[in-house]
Amino acid sequence: MCASDNSGSESYAVNVADTAAPEAAADPALIADLVTANHILFDQGVVDAFGHVSVRHDKNPSRFLLARNMAPGHVTAQDIIEFTLDGEPVNAAGRKVYLERFIHGEIYRAYPEVQAVVHSHSHAIVPLSVLKTMPLRAIFHMAGFIGEGAPVFEIRDVAGPGTDLLIRDNRLGRALAECFKASDIVLMRGHGSTVIGRSLQQVVYRAVYAEINARYQLETAHLGDVTYLTAEEARTCAMNIEGQVQRPWDLWRRQAEQRRKQ
Ligand code: MN
Repeated sequence: MCASDNSGSESYAVNVADTAAPEAAADPALIADLVTANHILFDQGVVDAFGHVSVRHDKNPSRFLLARNMAPGHVTAQDIIEFTLDGEPVNAAGRKVYLERFIHGEIYRAYPEVQAVVHSHSHAIVPLSVLKTMPLRAIFHMAGFIGEGAPVFEIRDVAGPGTDLLIRDNRLGRALAECFKASDIVLMRGHGSTVIGRSLQQVVYRAVYAEINARYQLETAHLGDVTYLTAEEARTCAMNIEGQVQRPWDLWRRQAEQRRKQ
C-alpha cells in the first residue's frame, strides 16, 4: 500500500472538468427530494457544513446526482450536479465538487440495488468509530438496520499511516464499498459513517436513527450492561418498521422547511 498516494495536496473543494455529456434530465420530483434530503439531514443534525447525500439517476443507473461543494442546508435544485460512477461531473460547468464524491460512485457501481447514499460526520457516530471495545450496534427497534455490529473501515489498511482520512479517489472508494457486503452502514475510523438505502426516504431515516442509536449507546455504556437487539430482532424490526419511512420524512421535511424560513 502506498501512503504517498495521499499527499493532501488537493483541497476539500475541487474544480474538475466535465468529462461526458449529461443524461436526459432527471425527474424534477427526484431532484426536489434530493434537495429535501439535504435540508432534513442538516435540520436533524446529521450533517453540518460537511457531509453529503446522493441519489442514483432515474434515467441512467450509471449516473448519480449530488450537490456542488456547499453546505447541505443551503442546497437548491440549481446546485445539483450529475456524475458518472467514476465520480466525474458531467454538468458542473466550473462549479466546485465534493472531494469525497468517490464514496457515492463506487457504492452505486458495486450495489445495483442501492438508490441513495449519505456520508456524514455526525457527532455520536465518530466516538464509536474509534472505540475498539464497542461497535455501533442496534440498541432499539428504530435502528434494526444496524444489526449486531457495524463494520469499521480502517483507511490505514488501504492507504497507509499518514493520510487525511478522506476518500479522495476511486481506489479508496472501492475499498470502502467492499464493507457494505455485510452491512447497510459502515463507520469510518476517526471520520464518520456512510449509509446506503433503496430510496432517499429510507437512507435519510437510517442516517437520522443511526445517530440517535449511537447517542443511546454512549449514554448507556457507562451505566451498566446493555441488552442489544439480537440479529433476528434487528432484521425483523428493519423489515417491519422501515415500511414507514415516509412518515418521518414528511414530518422532518415540514420542520426543516419551516426552520429555513425563520
Ligand atoms: Mn467525510
